[in-house]
Amino acid sequence: MSELKKYKMFIDGEWVDSESKKTFQTLNPENNEPWAEVPEASEKDVDKAVKAAQKAFEGTWPSLFPKERAKYLKAIAEQLRKNAELLGKIETIDTGKLFKETKTQANYIAEYYDYYAGLADKVEGTVLPIDKPDMQVITTRVPIGVVAAIIPWNSQMLLTAVKLAPALAMGNTVVIKSSELAPATLFEFGKLIEKTGIPKGTINIISGFGDPCGKALTSHNLVERVAFTGGPETARHIIRNSAENLSQVSLELGGKSPVAVFEDADQENALNGITAGIFGASGQSCIAGSRLYIQNSIYDNFLEKIINKANKIKLGSPMDTNTQMGPLNSLKQLEVIEKNIKLTIDQGGKLRCGGKRHNMSNKGYYFPPTVIECENHNLPTSENELFGPILSVMKFNTEEEVIDKMNDNKYGLSSGIYTKNINKALRVSKAIRAGITFVNTYRLISPTAPFGGIKDSGYGKEAGIESIKDYTRIKTTWFNTSDKPMDDPFTMG
Ligand code: NAD
Repeated sequence: MSELKKYKMFIDGEWVDSESKKTFQTLNPENNEPWAEVPEASEKDVDKAVKAAQKAFEGTWPSLFPKERAKYLKAIAEQLRKNAELLGKIETIDTGKLFKETKTQANYIAEYYDYYAGLADKVEGTVLPIDKPDMQVITTRVPIGVVAAIIPWNSQMLLTAVKLAPALAMGNTVVIKSSELAPATLFEFGKLIEKTGIPKGTINIISGFGDPCGKALTSHNLVERVAFTGGPETARHIIRNSAENLSQVSLELGGKSPVAVFEDADQENALNGITAGIFGASGQSCIAGSRLYIQNSIYDNFLEKIINKANKIKLGSPMDTNTQMGPLNSLKQLEVIEKNIKLTIDQGGKLRCGGKRHNMSNKGYYFPPTVIECENHNLPTSENELFGPILSVMKFNTEEEVIDKMNDNKYGLSSGIYTKNINKALRVSKAIRAGITFVNTYRLISPTAPFGGIKDSGYGKEAGIESIKDYTRIKTTWFNTSDKPMDDPFTMG
């Protein structure tokens, strides 16, 4: 085994070990071997990071001109573009996601910093019409304070950018907690941040487990805003933690996103969209289109096409540019998937391809593209988020029926529709209870497009113009414009 790469945490502009000197190892999902060692933060380390962020918040950062803050955001964007290859490589080793995707994403994420740099000086206050004489009342948008950003293991550069960029643009300071399943990329990112010369303590990056590290961070009395991405069960902990500090919380959670293919759809387009939606990133995407409804009249024929395509997907090393699907991130996830498939088959589900660990998986966590027909969309694979390449397929007859079925799930993050009929597309997209609907496409993101769900997929939006306001508070200021003294309160009326 080669020597482990060692990382430190980035607190108050310094690279530090945890106070206890405790560390943990992170595994490479391709071969199930440890490759790096990172500090394990305790409550003490969290306290140090939050206090550094608070000190920076009480310093110059919030009072810089917005354009000055924007310069740092642009400098971060530039660093990302220059170092996309390095970040992509580290993210691939740590997560198992394809290098061609992580590299492209690291480069594209720069756009988010540029976008929020541009918005930094565009958030305005108001002058209020008021029902009192001689009063001028204004609202201004002020920064909130210390933001805790909690990141899951997948798409870390993106899920950090959608929190960090608007938070910084509005004058907040941030403590980022990386995922214990893939902590390394954010430390590499920290090295790039350091190069921008941003004031010490403005951005702090720590590593540790949900409890105690995440718990201590999200309940810390100096944290005033929590931006969380992860699973719904963790989100419930976050809400309970925030009862301690009464922080403002936004939650980007999981999904079990439905996709409908109508008989009039362009089938080649639908096939490519469905493949991207469930087999892209080995299905480890919060918006994975994992519940597929096919209209009865095209069901058999279209399902065969999906199975053919799924069977041809090339599994392999995530660093190999010819690989189409890499390993899953963790053994735990692989076991959850296996259990759900078994239960579904026991309850009548028909496995059409995949379904078993790939023979490469005695080393890494490889699982093949899997298609399973479910008569009932409340079977385990068609109901639960699996975070893997598992497509559950169901039939439908009418538009009304498919809308009901698409909405019959506890999640509401994403959804997809394939049809050439614009009226139908408009009717169905309006009726679907989800934060995002893709029509004749899938799995796209942009800094300008708000992202987020409803129901068990959480609340709050990331990306887009509105989300920047979630990193401000409204402050109301009353001005008495009269030169006369105020009335004596005890002689009024
Ligand atoms: P997770 O919920 O297990 O962990 C997410 C983060 O929360 C980690 O950093 C973890 O350490 C931290 N955490 C755990 N317990 C905590 C606690 N008690 N207090 C504070 N923090 C705690 O999620 P994961 O397995 O890393 O990621 C997969 C999940 O994330 C899936 O459900 C996926 O759908 C979701 N996700 C959602 C989006 C979105 O934008 N909606 C994007 C990506 C992933």
